[in-house]
Amino acid sequence: MEVRDDFPILKRKVNGKTLVYLDNAATTQKPKQVIDKVSEYYKEHNANIHRGIHKLSEEATNEFEETRKKIAKLIGAKEDEVVFTRSTTESLNTLAYSSLRSLGEGDEVVLSVMEHHSNIVPWQMLQEKGVKLNFVDINPDGTLKMEQFEELINKNTKIVSIVHASNVLGTINPIADISKIAHDNNAIMIVDGAQSVPNMKIDVKKLGCDFLAFSGHKMLGPTGVGILYGNNFDNVEPFLRGGEMIREVSLREAKWNDMPWKMEAGTPNIAGVAGFGEAIAYLERTGLSKIRKHETELVKYATKKLEDLVTIYGNADKTGVVSFSMNAHPHDVASLVDSEGIAIRSGHMCAQPLMDRLEVPALSRASFYLYNTKEEIDKLVTALEKVQKVFE
Ligand code: PMP
Repeated sequence: MEVRDDFPILKRKVNGKTLVYLDNAATTQKPKQVIDKVSEYYKEHNANIHRGIHKLSEEATNEFEETRKKIAKLIGAKEDEVVFTRSTTESLNTLAYSSLRSLGEGDEVVLSVMEHHSNIVPWQMLQEKGVKLNFVDINPDGTLKMEQFEELINKNTKIVSIVHASNVLGTINPIADISKIAHDNNAIMIVDGAQSVPNMKIDVKKLGCDFLAFSGHKMLGPTGVGILYGNNFDNVEPFLRGGEMIREVSLREAKWNDMPWKMEAGTPNIAGVAGFGEAIAYLERTGLSKIRKHETELVKYATKKLEDLVTIYGNADKTGVVSFSMNAHPHDVASLVDSEGIAIRSGHMCAQPLMDRLEVPALSRASFYLYNTKEEIDKLVTALEKVQKVFE
């Protein structure tokens, strides 16, 4: 795709070689439009939002609220259904902490074995209240065992929380089908969209979910900006309390503000949100369907080139992710390819239960985004061939 010139970091040298950045599932690089926006915000508009009745505060508030509108449009939501958090992790914790108050003995939560730690560890807290966690397993191709949703979701199930696209296997899960089973049983459907919203056109109505969590930094935006979409926050207790989120406070009580501000205590990452607005504009100009097509081509190309050299995990319909093992430990693989200027991820990728399920201690992962090329994959293949020889 004709976008590389927009990304200053891609010109960087690492260990004397031009950077090949293949760690996009961890975080993506930022185009100059986003970097300039953050800098312009601080140079021209910096003020706190929703408070001061002065020009700068008005401008900063506009930037912030305009981004909320863009996000709402991007995912087919209403503005007051979009809450700013710090990350996917914070969005999911918000829901887990709220459930900690409302759920108890006899209630159940359904998750899957392919979840990122941020969609497992917060729910583990609920076990203190006697809530039972149930996990849907995977098939050998990395898809979910769909029949297990029918078996595990019942009248005791209060929450079903599932990743839309796996950060390890890349598998894109049939969320609409899972939402239907959840709703037929009066359970709330939560989706971890950290790896799907950046890579495909999402419509929350089509997904049929009640909540969707994702992070701006995985889709060209600055770090420190997360989103929690929800179609009904009536029963969600604010996780953070303090300024901004109140309507009225006395010494012993407080009344909450309207949505979405009820969920946004304290001064947010205003510059980051302004930058995220620019990132969304950039993705929309480029076209999410084009990005998805490009990534699919790269995954196909990488799979073909790598399949004789490494073992690839997950071969269903997937995002731009290729996780693999080979004759060397993943940490050695990552550090040897780093010496060629190539950035890939290695380790458990915040999915230790999935590593246990796959019976591997760790994996290596190359993950692609709109600026990656087949030539970069060729460089990775050459570097991995070298690794293979070293460990023969
Ligand atoms: N869920 C998935 C599937 C992810 O890939 C990630 C990030 N690796 C997260 C959640 C957590 O995102 P963040 O670190 O931005 O909170």
